[in-house]
Amino acid sequence: MATDKKPSTLEEEYFAREDAERLRKLHADEQSSLRQGQKDALRSLHAGRCSGCGAQLVPEQVSGIVIQHCPACGGAFLDKRAWDTLHAHADSQTVMGAVLNWFKAGSKP
Ligand SMILES: [Zn+2]
Repeated sequence: MATDKKPSTLEEEYFAREDAERLRKLHADEQSSLRQGQKDALRSLHAGRCSGCGAQLVPEQVSGIVIQHCPACGGAFLDKRAWDTLHAHADSQTVMGAVLNWFKAGSKP
């Protein structure tokens, strides 16, 4: 019997966690099976490129954080240095608020 009941938020969260765990395992399996030369080739091919559409990323400085912004699809990437800076900041919510405000219409090129 089919129902048109919308899945609950808890159910959606459960499946999102399950999916994330599956992808973490795929990542670990891939990393353990790749040789260093293959990892270097992938890094060379994808460095500075959007993971969503492959376009060249543009670094944007926002409150001491460098956001790698994709003008093509509007996506963004924070590298480890950006996350470390964000987490080390005394008032990380203020910095994150500035980053989120940057994404509002009119703030980006
Ligand atoms: Zn993109």
